[in-house]
Amino acid sequence: MEQIFSSIVQRDPEQKEFHQAVHEVMESVRPVFERNPEYRRQAVLERLTEPERVIMFRVPWMDDQGQVYVNRGYRVEMNSAIGPYKGGLRFHPSVSLSIIKFLAFEQVFKNSLTTLHMGGGKGGSDFNPKGRTDAEVMRFCQSFMAELARHIGPNTDIPAGDIGVGAREIGYLFGMYKKLRNEFTGVLTGKSLDWGGSLIRPEATGYGVVFFAAEMLAHAGDSIEGKTCLVSGSGNVAQFTTEKIVQLGGRVVTLSDSSGYIYDEEGIDREKLEFVKRLKNIRRGRIREYCEQYPRAVFTEADPELGYNQLWTHQADCAMPCATQNEINEQDAKNLVKAGVRLVCEGANMPSTPSATEVFLEEGLLYGPGKAANAGGVAVSGLEMAQNSMRLSWPREEVEGRLKHIMKSIHTTCVDASAEYGMEGNYLAGANIAGFVKVVNAMLDQGLV
Ligand code: NDP
Repeated sequence: MEQIFSSIVQRDPEQKEFHQAVHEVMESVRPVFERNPEYRRQAVLERLTEPERVIMFRVPWMDDQGQVYVNRGYRVEMNSAIGPYKGGLRFHPSVSLSIIKFLAFEQVFKNSLTTLHMGGGKGGSDFNPKGRTDAEVMRFCQSFMAELARHIGPNTDIPAGDIGVGAREIGYLFGMYKKLRNEFTGVLTGKSLDWGGSLIRPEATGYGVVFFAAEMLAHAGDSIEGKTCLVSGSGNVAQFTTEKIVQLGGRVVTLSDSSGYIYDEEGIDREKLEFVKRLKNIRRGRIREYCEQYPRAVFTEADPELGYNQLWTHQADCAMPCATQNEINEQDAKNLVKAGVRLVCEGANMPSTPSATEVFLEEGLLYGPGKAANAGGVAVSGLEMAQNSMRLSWPREEVEGRLKHIMKSIHTTCVDASAEYGMEGNYLAGANIAGFVKVVNAMLDQGLV
């Protein structure tokens, strides 16, 4: 395994995030290899870590003043053993091939856990939509889709949203795809309700995170009711994580964006959350404005010099990181333990560094890794695809019921897989092993392709 890992590092030495994601899975699946020597001969790890296809392209676009810019577009089609490629698009200045490859790799296992037939992929661009007008975002999306359209399709590769890609961007991307291909198909998920979207898709990732947390707590004889929760981020996942925690009787005291975080000791109730949704989704403002509206809350500016994030130092029972990768480092993890946190459930993808994860496991926290806990988003994307194929829409209760059922079954799968390999209570190992075995067996069934 060490040899395989070092050849992956040597091949692409600059892809740190991808190495991190691969290393974590490799550590978990060691015992699976001991039981299945055939996997070694079949080089399944080498095959899983090399994308089936990487597409990189130029995205030229023009701002409102006539200035031309060039960004880079990506789509990594990682693995299609159990279904067409499925995974979001991210628009953020930090996007690189390493980030898209790590996300696509994680997506393979996550999609496998959902029980639906979806392979893994991910894409995006280093374009920064922040501060851009709607017209500029539209032109960028159209240019991006002008190239992407030739690589995707409802039975081939079905993108969705992620950081920086919400309902507005999905609309512009879909419009361009439809024009280029002259067909109205379910090629993207996260669409608006009136033209093929699914009820509960916007809520799905956040609601799923809380359903998963509730399952972990129930398994330990507890519940979310009355629990104080730290939530980071203030985008799609953070908003609906907060909404479901409040619905289930918990209290959320923090939210953040890249400029800093707010702490509201009284809790972010439904009315305050509606304010955040308008602030972030419509006005596209900054989270500090929360404190202008609710002056008893406190805003703390992000301070990278500190070496830890003050958000994770507040007294609480649960933490749901919902912003971005590596937002919890070892010191943050220790601070969380000191603050009394007993459950960490990840809404973001890979928000905890490997040493932070180690702290959670050593301290015996209930730790729900992103690839299991945030799978609700892609699961409801799968349900959106099913509804599109049947040309009908399921009611809200039906989609939420199915989402809840899927999150419950992911929880059971993690518990069973970790127990089978003697690692009871380790959801990380359980998620990695269960996701891995299903994909690998499908690859072996299909021969060397
Ligand atoms: P949004 O763009 O809606 O929100 C992202 C939030 O995180 C914003 O508050 C943003 O602040 C903050 N953020 C982003 N990058 C950074 C950074 N480098 N440092 C600090 N804060 C940052 O994205 P989503 O809510 O959709 O995604 C959040 C996380 O959840 C991501 O890790 C994503 O991969 C994951 N995820 C999303 C799914 C979905 O269905 N949307 C599904 C599964 C996982 P700011 O506005 O200042 O940039």
